[in-house]
Amino acid sequence: MHKYIVRSAFTAKSPTGDRTMKKGEALCLSCSKAASLISRGLIVDAHIGLDLLDKYETRAKVLMEKLGYSQGGAQTEAVQLVNSCLKRHESMKSTRSPGAEFLAKVEEFNRNATGKNPITKVDAETGVGEWAGYRCNIGHGCSHGCLYCYAEKMATRFKRVDGAEEWREEVLQDLSTEGCKKYDSAIMFPTSHDITPNYLDAYQCHLYNILSSGNRVVLVSKPHRESIEAICAEFSSFRDVLTFRFTIGGIDTTAMRHWEPGAPALAERLDCLKHAFEAGYRTSVSAEPMLGGSEEAEKLYYMLEPYATEDLWFGKMNMVGGLRKNQDPEIVRYATELYNLQTDEEIMELVEKLDGLSKVQWKDSVKEIIEKAAQSSGTEK
Ligand code: SF4
Repeated sequence: MHKYIVRSAFTAKSPTGDRTMKKGEALCLSCSKAASLISRGLIVDAHIGLDLLDKYETRAKVLMEKLGYSQGGAQTEAVQLVNSCLKRHESMKSTRSPGAEFLAKVEEFNRNATGKNPITKVDAETGVGEWAGYRCNIGHGCSHGCLYCYAEKMATRFKRVDGAEEWREEVLQDLSTEGCKKYDSAIMFPTSHDITPNYLDAYQCHLYNILSSGNRVVLVSKPHRESIEAICAEFSSFRDVLTFRFTIGGIDTTAMRHWEPGAPALAERLDCLKHAFEAGYRTSVSAEPMLGGSEEAEKLYYMLEPYATEDLWFGKMNMVGGLRKNQDPEIVRYATELYNLQTDEEIMELVEKLDGLSKVQWKDSVKEIIEKAAQSSGTEK
């Protein structure tokens, strides 16, 4: 028997005749009896609590209206959101200082680190500049091997690597952040590799050095479960100054595998987002580059929004035009499809659907299109 709460008053037969159940009344029912009442919207699981009822109802409605869920599926998913909110609430009641073992690891790491400070100023106002005033990277190469990777294209162009294959080999650099200064704006860390398990130990040591000097960090990643769990476990005392921004560009797992062949799958990234949310951290999403058109981006927004405490950013894939001339016909096919899905008209459709929603942010590639549309219609946006 489980406890349930009456959402809307209803009358049911009892051994002593008809009985009216009042809104807010607690009931003890078997799962089978409860299932039909839940599906008719008459009761909810007691641990949802009436104060979270609004959240539950709104989520179930959005899932049905925007994402095509059945009523039962939407209710199950909405209960999961409520459970995540309860976990977040519990997590935020306390913080835990980094453990002694971790601090000993940082100390040893710092003793052996002899290289230079890797934090550099970001001069541009677009790209990284939209999110942070400084950047930090601790290695060359990224096993995710994204086909649109700007860092790889630059490394290949300036002969730091011999093409995309070599880029996938990750090389940790000897760098030092111990006693770094407090910078006057946030540091994006990393910007040109990821926090793969290969970089994780060093990443955590540098992150500790940077945060304990009073800095704010925007951690941007196509997240690995192992990495995010480890970071969440040690850094809860820095929750106010650390934002997780997870890159999730679409919901089509086949397209994601094509564009980001070595990166974690969608399910793992969603788990990481939920994990960081439940652990009480600031969470945000980067859908740059989007890996589909406006319809997919809209779905992505409604899927992720409740788990993002901060903004969801949307941006186009900038290099897609050039990839249509690639020698690999498969890359040409995907690039052409995406090019056609991200025309100015298609992007403006997305803007019409999502503009004005409080967490939605447009990257420079979308802002340009909005400005162009405003100019051609003679209106200011
Ligand atoms: S995750 Fe980032 S750095 Fe790594 S390959 Fe993809 S785009 Fe490049």
